[in-house]
Amino acid sequence: MTDSLISSAYSQALEVIASVEPRIAEATRQELADQRSSLKLIASENYASPAVLMTMGTWFSDKYAEGTVGHRFYAGCQNVDTVESLAAEHARELFGAPYAYVQPHSGIDANLVAFWSILANKVESPYLEKLQAKNVNELSEADWETLRHEFGNQRLLGMSLDAGGHLTHGFRPNISGKMFHQQQYGTDPGTGLLDYDAVAAKAREFKPLVLVAGYSAYPRRVNFAKMREIADEVGAVLMVDMAHFAGLVAGKVFTGEENPVPYAHLTTTTTHKSLRGPRGGMVLAQEEFASDVDRGCPMVLGGPLSHVMAAKAVAFAEARTPDFQAYAQRIADNAKSLAEGFLTRGANLVTGGTDNHIVLLDVSSFGLTGRQAESALLDAGVVTNRNSVPADPNGAWYTSGIRLGTPALTTRGFGHDEFDTVAELIVDVLSNTEAGTTKAGGPSKASYVLGDGVADRVTKRSAEMLDKHPLYPGLVLS
Ligand code: PLP
Repeated sequence: MTDSLISSAYSQALEVIASVEPRIAEATRQELADQRSSLKLIASENYASPAVLMTMGTWFSDKYAEGTVGHRFYAGCQNVDTVESLAAEHARELFGAPYAYVQPHSGIDANLVAFWSILANKVESPYLEKLQAKNVNELSEADWETLRHEFGNQRLLGMSLDAGGHLTHGFRPNISGKMFHQQQYGTDPGTGLLDYDAVAAKAREFKPLVLVAGYSAYPRRVNFAKMREIADEVGAVLMVDMAHFAGLVAGKVFTGEENPVPYAHLTTTTTHKSLRGPRGGMVLAQEEFASDVDRGCPMVLGGPLSHVMAAKAVAFAEARTPDFQAYAQRIADNAKSLAEGFLTRGANLVTGGTDNHIVLLDVSSFGLTGRQAESALLDAGVVTNRNSVPADPNGAWYTSGIRLGTPALTTRGFGHDEFDTVAELIVDVLSNTEAGTTKAGGPSKASYVLGDGVADRVTKRSAEMLDKHPLYPGLVLS
């Protein structure tokens, strides 16, 4: 697609939007300007291609298509069928998965679909036959009562939030921590690394129905063959949430035992992080779970977002190219450069480094909470998010860490030298930020004082790099 085509398409689209609600057109322009001029280091974000973005802005958004391909509850779904079939086919090919369900609207939805599939497939209940949608009306009130007890008392073992797990892996405030009898595994207190023997010991004792692997903030690779061995030993279903590192699996950076798809009964993901697609979710399944996964609607989903399924197909097609594999390798190489940049400047990293796309910086040695560090960095145009570190004394709100990811700036073309400079700039900001005080004069976990001139100095250095690696080069809005 030529630059001028993209430029005129977006300029005209913004004119159309402005004719109805000019403030939305203006906010959209401003968002592009802001994203272009800041160092985006949020590990879960990326920049999708213009083809992916444009695919989302079509009339497929208007179509209802509850059901599955060829089996819809609405008429006129022939084109949605084409879209959904193509997205699923690309996903199966990309990940070598027997089955792909591309309807989930988000990562959380994908995990809910997977949980439901596991319950429906594995809970041994005389009522299960009847629970299938067509027989559901045959259940009496007493049957429902029994089912609620059977389904509500299943056990799930997942990684704790402060060790890097996700909310949906059994965190108490999330529905996964309420619908399941849950326990959590952490990481080794000395190294911060996953201790497979400790996970196995916990699994033997707890005997979960579901063992969840995967993470949002763990900066290391996971051996999924070992996780499957643990699951098999205790008769659990292995569910891997690869939302964060799906791009590294698609790009063949994680292969063999680091590729979850052949080992997990169910692999869930988002499509918008390292995979660089539209915002959305997906479930990959072994054949045994395919028909349960297909019941995502009506169990936890309504109508699929057909325009997003179309964009998933486009993104998966992009991810099946050699260019994407080279991109995925650069994501991992750049994370190493970023980590080395911190370590040579004396900063503390959880686990002492990285071998995926995440660097987890412990900011307590700077005398700051994660919240203070996040805000000071934002003042200097560095967009990050605060994150717990293992056994975090500051809890999940203030935290002691900053999570950094390389997918977005790698999309812009940043390489080793730029990521080394990024580490230098972050250390500059944090070394020149002091914790502030509360109104009453006590120590504050939120307020901070950024040294004079730091924001200007850092913004100027960032701008030099960002100008060299423009976001959507050639896209000029009139
Ligand atoms: N799973 C993991 C591991 C995640 O990191 C996230 C999001 O950050 C999700 C699931 C949820 O994704 P979504 O925000 O699309 O619901």
